Amino acid sequence: MNIEAKLGLDAFILDKETHIVIHQEICKKCEAKYCLYVCPGRLYSINQETGEMALEFGGCLECGTCMIACVDGALDWNYPRGGFGVQYRFG
Ligand code: SF4
Repeated sequence: MNIEAKLGLDAFILDKETHIVIHQEICKKCEAKYCLYVCPGRLYSINQETGEMALEFGGCLECGTCMIACVDGALDWNYPRGGFGVQYRFG
């Protein structure tokens, strides 16, 4: 089973509020935009209308990679509230 198939087994309990806040005033100064490339869920994108970074937080795998990759500190990263977020299936 490849990684895409394995990720397809995960389920998500969606919260109304994001657990990762993007500080746009910091993000817009970053030229590298590493978050676009490192997220295994490809959840980051640039809003074509506003030019701001956008995140589909509902599909977050809670790996923390974006937090580490965002060297300018534009992310306020937390785990989802209890009972929300990814529900990994083991076995
Ligand atoms: Fe993507 Fe991982 Fe960051 Fe979630 S924690 S947005 S899966 S890089």
